[in-house]
Amino acid sequence: MDIQNLLDDIVGTIKPQLGQGETARYIPQLGDVAADQFGISVATGDGEVYASGDSEVPFSIQSISKVFALALVLAGDGDGIWKRVFREPSGNPFNSLVQLEHEDGIPRNPFINAGALVVTDRLVSITQDAAGAVLDLLRTESGNNSVQIDSAVAQSEARHSHRNASLAHFLASCGNLENPVQDVLDAYINQCSLAMSCTDLALASRFLASNGICVDGTPLLSSPQTKRINAVMLTCGTYDAAGEFAYRVGLPGKSGVGGGIIAVVPNNCTISVWSPGLGRSGNSIAGVAALDEFTTRTGLSIF
Ligand code: GLU
Repeated sequence: MDIQNLLDDIVGTIKPQLGQGETARYIPQLGDVAADQFGISVATGDGEVYASGDSEVPFSIQSISKVFALALVLAGDGDGIWKRVFREPSGNPFNSLVQLEHEDGIPRNPFINAGALVVTDRLVSITQDAAGAVLDLLRTESGNNSVQIDSAVAQSEARHSHRNASLAHFLASCGNLENPVQDVLDAYINQCSLAMSCTDLALASRFLASNGICVDGTPLLSSPQTKRINAVMLTCGTYDAAGEFAYRVGLPGKSGVGGGIIAVVPNNCTISVWSPGLGRSGNSIAGVAALDEFTTRTGLSIF
């Protein structure tokens, strides 16, 4: 199969869907991004990259950063994090407060905001600079040293972070934060505000398709740990639409409210898509449609 032709074709197929949905207006800086953009990149295990559309335009990775923070925590201190966060789909919005109270401050999974705050808290304890650790990993794995935190997005998110602050304070009240609320919030907001292109993200995610092995050949994760992250991505990576994503795409994936999604074909390749218009659950409408096209036409899904 000619992957480059396929990606170019997907860019054409997806055009009618561009601009559908809403940008993430609750973070004003993201609300202003032009919604008619679309990019797609594929990075194979042996280092080939195929890309089309707006694949080199940096965008705010938002919740996609949660995968890399979790990988660093699992790499840093193994399974301990699972005492502080479950790994079940939430079936609730990613920023829900209700479920956290019902479940006594143990978040449903590491990819909803409450769970990600716990993971980032642990990463602050391990590294003292959680966002810096995520940034270093992403720079090294993508080979792009100009990847950086978009400070305008970070400031915009910080000014509108009441919900995440509520979640963090509730976690602290349940004894499920090790560090001061403000330190955890700052680190979380900075990691979410990293800006990367589809190609950067596809390259940086390759260890998830390569049994945890980094670009320099060293292991970040063991093979079983990599299997487990991919499993949590499949069941919890696309908000409360993870069932629909599995049905349409059939791959582990993680989305962000910036409109990006990464997807993993184990032992084969990673795919990154971006288009800012979001559907009701917060996933990129054109991004999900493009991944559906890709896996349906290539047969590259885990099912
Ligand atoms: N920084 C965003 C928030 O906390 C991340 C949300 C997302 O991408 O799912 O609301």
